[in-house]
Amino acid sequence: MSPYQNLEEYNIEITNEVKEHFSRIVDDIGEDITREGLVNTPERAAKAMLFLTQGYKQDATEILKGAMFEESYDDMVIIKDIEVYSLCEHHMLPFFGKAHIAYIPNGHIVGLSKIPRVVDVFARRLQVQERLTHDILECINSTLQPKGVAVVIEAAHMCMMMRGVQKQNSVTTTSGFRGQFEKIETRNEFLKLISSDLS
Ligand SMILES: [Zn+2]
Repeated sequence: MSPYQNLEEYNIEITNEVKEHFSRIVDDIGEDITREGLVNTPERAAKAMLFLTQGYKQDATEILKGAMFEESYDDMVIIKDIEVYSLCEHHMLPFFGKAHIAYIPNGHIVGLSKIPRVVDVFARRLQVQERLTHDILECINSTLQPKGVAVVIEAAHMCMMMRGVQKQNSVTTTSGFRGQFEKIETRNEFLKLISSDLS
């Protein structure tokens, strides 16, 4: 499968199976599965779930490898405010927010649009925010082999917000740093740049 492919053609067998499960869930929570508005809900929910977890079928390393270019530029490259939509693996409820990613090239740069694609590949799985951060960091680090890489993710978790477990508006921040970003000055420069409004 091409790493760029969005899963828009659904495996009929799997879709039907997931659809059956959703149908049972709708029934189990006390709804009437024959009600007009719900008739096609199990199939829609199945397709939505398969779309939101299509990252299992995609290879983030291949996406990066397909767009690496030799380049002597060796200053920090920052991609700010990448939208993140994922599903927490504990409740299968969404968590969403922004990722900020930087790397310092070491002979190679990568097409800028590929970094958000890498985020999507790992986000479209059942995740915890900590592992999502780590997956993105390690993928860029091992594929691009830059002089440094930094990943910060800020996200709100629906399992906390909707269930009222903790403060409703709390945002969880996770971060990971490799190479030159392990030095406090480089890390601070990155953190300053992502917190300032450049526009
Ligand atoms: Zn959760």
